[in-house]
Amino acid sequence: MSIRENLHSIKSTLPAHVTLIAVTKTQPLDKLMEVYDAGHRIFGENKVQELVEKQEALPKDIEWHLIGHLQTNKVKYIAAFISLVHSVDSLKLLQEINKQAEKNNRIINCLLQIYIADEDTKFGLSFSEAEELINSEELIVLKSIKITGFMGMASNTGQKEQIANEFRSLKRFYDKSRSFSAFNVELNNLSMGMSSDYPLAIENGSTLVRVGSSIFGERSNLRS
Ligand SMILES: *Cc1c(COP(=O)(O)O)cnc(C)c1O
Repeated sequence: MSIRENLHSIKSTLPAHVTLIAVTKTQPLDKLMEVYDAGHRIFGENKVQELVEKQEALPKDIEWHLIGHLQTNKVKYIAAFISLVHSVDSLKLLQEINKQAEKNNRIINCLLQIYIADEDTKFGLSFSEAEELINSEELIVLKSIKITGFMGMASNTGQKEQIANEFRSLKRFYDKSRSFSAFNVELNNLSMGMSSDYPLAIENGSTLVRVGSSIFGERSNLRS
């Protein structure tokens, strides 16, 4: 199937409350334009440099999401345009995003990345660390960020029940946390699910799915 057909067939299965992020990492610009020309406007990248290059080259009505690990010294490169950072995993990073957002006269929406997988290769906060961050004194002074939800990645395993349990654990934490609200905390987004597991993520409460290879085909390993 073509990229356009893949995109439409995925979109046709999504409930209305679920937003698709087309994960464009390692894909060349002409493939991104195929997705754009098919009417899609929400793109996700996992590396800052690639994100910046693509943002400069492509139409300006694209909404860019950063889905990969973000180092504090790179926040300045994306602060002027980023729509949502999915991968905030420390107060220090949040403080830097706040500083750069302020310089750009913007409010930057952020998700806290929560560690739910049974692996030691993935970034993220534990539930208790996230809870502590949301309730911390230091957060109150950050006027140029907004925490709008959580992101989680399930284990890379064929065990569906394990994946479902991991998604469910994050959904429970999200539901519990939603009663907390502040001017810069309003939890409305749960980013869970990629090509291999997004239907399961949606069943378990995801509102944002990050899908790459099911749209573009398998990535070559050259750049990822
Ligand atoms: C690459 C990536 C995805 C998409 O992966 P696919 O398997 O290609 O759908 C989703 N989320 C993150 C954080 C990624 O790095």
